[in-house]
Amino acid sequence: MREIYEPGQLPPLGVVPKYMYAAMIRPERYGPPEKAICIETTEVPEVGPGQVLVKVMAAGVNYNNIWAALGSPADVIADRQRLGAKEDFHIGGSDGAGVVWAVGEGVSQVKVGDAIVISPGIWDEKAADIRMGADPMTSKSALAMGYETNYGTFAQFTVVDEYQCHPKPAGLTWEQAGSFLLTASTVYRQLRGWQPHVVEPGDPVLVWGGSGGLGSMAIQIVRQFGGIPIAVISDPSNEEHCLRLGAKGVINRNDFDHWGRIPSASDGAAFATWLAGVRAFGKRIWDILGERRSPRIVLEHPGEDTIPTSMYVCDNAGMVVTCGATSGYAADVDLRFLWMRQKRLQGSHGANTSQFRAVTELVAQGQLDPCLSMVVPFEDTPGVHQLMYENRHPGGNMSILIGAAAPGLKE
Ligand code: NAP
Repeated sequence: MREIYEPGQLPPLGVVPKYMYAAMIRPERYGPPEKAICIETTEVPEVGPGQVLVKVMAAGVNYNNIWAALGSPADVIADRQRLGAKEDFHIGGSDGAGVVWAVGEGVSQVKVGDAIVISPGIWDEKAADIRMGADPMTSKSALAMGYETNYGTFAQFTVVDEYQCHPKPAGLTWEQAGSFLLTASTVYRQLRGWQPHVVEPGDPVLVWGGSGGLGSMAIQIVRQFGGIPIAVISDPSNEEHCLRLGAKGVINRNDFDHWGRIPSASDGAAFATWLAGVRAFGKRIWDILGERRSPRIVLEHPGEDTIPTSMYVCDNAGMVVTCGATSGYAADVDLRFLWMRQKRLQGSHGANTSQFRAVTELVAQGQLDPCLSMVVPFEDTPGVHQLMYENRHPGGNMSILIGAAAPGLKE
């Protein structure tokens, strides 16, 4: 038996080599992804009780591996070492599709040879809060796979808990199947998980970054439930992509310059200029809708640059729901607009098992396009992350071929 197989080569089913290739981040390389991420060899991880070893065929690219590469705002390697981890490296990757290669003790719902997609939420099913009925993604034990945990999907093999395995939609190529679950499930929870603010027919929904990974999924899911998505972009060449997915209209954020933190109310002139900018942005939404209606839900993730605008343009008694802060964390909220207009600012993170399964079903039934825009070979893992870091990547989701020998393969 060979000790290591080249990416794209398949060892015989069930044969677990001692070593594997992995796209690794090390603290001494923290910085832009093209410098921080390198393909190295390391030992294939052990499979514990309730766990599954997956041969990764393709893995999706997500923003969290950029945060991991930068070593900021969290040093994920040091954080784990403080909790006793021995590894001085990080293997990212929170999305993936592959083949069950080995199963640990007690695994009953998947078997060797099954084709699966991997969901990125990890929790302790025996945690006290989960046993008391908490949504597992709100549990104190919840972690994002391949960010807060090591041994993500940017490697020939990854280890997951059994509940992270979902049947691979048969009609999808490996690269499609590995690309969508993190983004799609995150926005599914944002749009469907926070009663009573779930998308209803006729609801206008503002989608920041409409051409990005989250945005491309959100536009479609809003449409799926009868809502009216309005997408924001920065590059006019992405307008067509958003309209094709179902956006009622598109706003180019470069037409405005009021972004970032709110000027102090004591600086009357600066505050008035800011207010004029944010009102002009809101008017653009009314123009698209053809009536003076404001978004009942605002799908947030840029953070510092956009939260003040999101909170202002959100309808009375509506919800701004955020899962990220690409542009910065110190976002201002003018509390007058929050309480007087009785709005809700809701945090949302990841998804739970039923939400993961629901979006996988939507994709399997052809009702949600995974919007795969770019497929790269394993050795381009640093480069594709660099593109995303510089916001120069194409709209939709991107995938890295690892075990799949070529694009277009489904089994
Ligand atoms: P993405 O594919 O890069 O898309 C993000 C989009 O945001 C970009 O296409 C860009 O669109 C827009 N954007 C960037 N900077 C902006 C700014 N300053 N103001 C307004 N818009 C801006 O990334 P993604 O996968 O959608 O992820 C987006 C964020 O969500 C990341 O920070 C990620 O870490 C976070 N996230 C969180 C979770 C969670 O569970 N908590 C899950 C997934 C993602 P335009 O330039 O066209 O406007």
